[in-house]
Amino acid sequence: MKYYSTNQKAPSASLEEAVVKGLASDRGLYMPEQIEQLPSSFFEEIDKLSFQEISYRVADAFFGEDVPAEILKEIVYDTLSFDTPLVPVSDHIYSLELFHGPTLAFKDVGARFMARLLSYFIRKEGKKQVNVLVATSGDTGSAVANGFLGVEGIHVYVLYPKGKVSEIQEKQFTTLGQNITALEIDGNFDNCQALVKGAFMDKELNERLTLTSANSINVARFLPQAFYYFYGYAQLKKAGKADDHIVVCVPSGNFGNITAALFGKGMGLPISRFIAANNRNDIFYQYLKTGEYKPRPSITTVANAMDVGDPSNFARIIDLYQHSHSKIVNDISGATYTDDEICETVHNTWQQYQYLLDPHGACAYRALCEGLRPNETGFFIETAHPAKFLQTIETIIGEKIKIPTRLQSFMAGTKQSIPLSSEFADFKDFLLKETR
Ligand SMILES: *Cc1c(COP(=O)(O)O)cnc(C)c1O
Repeated sequence: MKYYSTNQKAPSASLEEAVVKGLASDRGLYMPEQIEQLPSSFFEEIDKLSFQEISYRVADAFFGEDVPAEILKEIVYDTLSFDTPLVPVSDHIYSLELFHGPTLAFKDVGARFMARLLSYFIRKEGKKQVNVLVATSGDTGSAVANGFLGVEGIHVYVLYPKGKVSEIQEKQFTTLGQNITALEIDGNFDNCQALVKGAFMDKELNERLTLTSANSINVARFLPQAFYYFYGYAQLKKAGKADDHIVVCVPSGNFGNITAALFGKGMGLPISRFIAANNRNDIFYQYLKTGEYKPRPSITTVANAMDVGDPSNFARIIDLYQHSHSKIVNDISGATYTDDEICETVHNTWQQYQYLLDPHGACAYRALCEGLRPNETGFFIETAHPAKFLQTIETIIGEKIKIPTRLQSFMAGTKQSIPLSSEFADFKDFLLKETR
């Protein structure tokens, strides 16, 4: 399969080139040239298949031409070493819990898949050291760092905004050592993302180093996020709900997660419509309303992994819909919530249904409650475990919550990070010195 750039000014790339480069040379995002329609027989028997079996089928549609079957199967099965159960919360609303992986956030799926696929390409080509750059608003850093930890031939640099991620999130990528370096940037998430993008565009850096990105701009991280939408549907079918109109609601920041779901729909997944839930960083919500895309600096909220002021996967969404605002609003609606509304939703859902939401899932749950029509059933993506936002959640519900053992072991480690300004020159200097 070939991958083209959303900016249409770079040559198309093989899977390997797209994965190793991350971003196309014209700054566009890679898109697969085809989206394969899966046969109706697959959807008829989907409720009888395991998460791994379903995911392999989806992975094969994108990567089957470029990765030998037994290797692709091993990558998929290895990546999905945990379940993503669909849990009923309230009338006609289910939670697809994606926080049962090693770092307790949905990004484990894409990050683990990408680490395995990239290391396959490195082994195959006998490539020298590959440097993975990743900007994080909280959860990407930990998922990527843990996914790549100890993988030979790869060094990971995690860029995160100083003082803007939760203590637990920070511990998950600053305590690992080995091939993981944490860079504490004096700025916000958008500054971190700009530094990473700047590095890919810098001629000297690219001549000296092999750089790639593990943000959702990378197709190897982004496309596997389609897997669990199929599995969510399979579980709804098992519950006898497949004949309802199905609505999927995704708490969105950089829009990689929801874009993967849109690809799923393109492959025939019977979802009737989508809701993108935002916090106060509602650039996409405003786009839906006005047809104008106006990026602006992100503001800090309790749902910090969605504090994104210029969502990078917007480029993929408009490409997928041929730049047609009317086609986009036909499939996707939006919602936006203040911190007070998010906290109120966590509180009320706990009181009423004994279901504990995290701040991101809370946006999505509320959007479904407010947006679901009578003949519809919905599921939302619970993107992180509430214990990752311990203080926020305990303050809201006024109770102590249980911290999963996986999280406790991260918290015991010692933070190691390197402070840097948000100036590109400083970052470049650092990279050149580090890798000399
Ligand atoms: C990254 C993240 C999001 C946003 O996902 P995007 O793919 O960037 O839209 C939402 N919730 C949590 C917990 C996250 O870590």
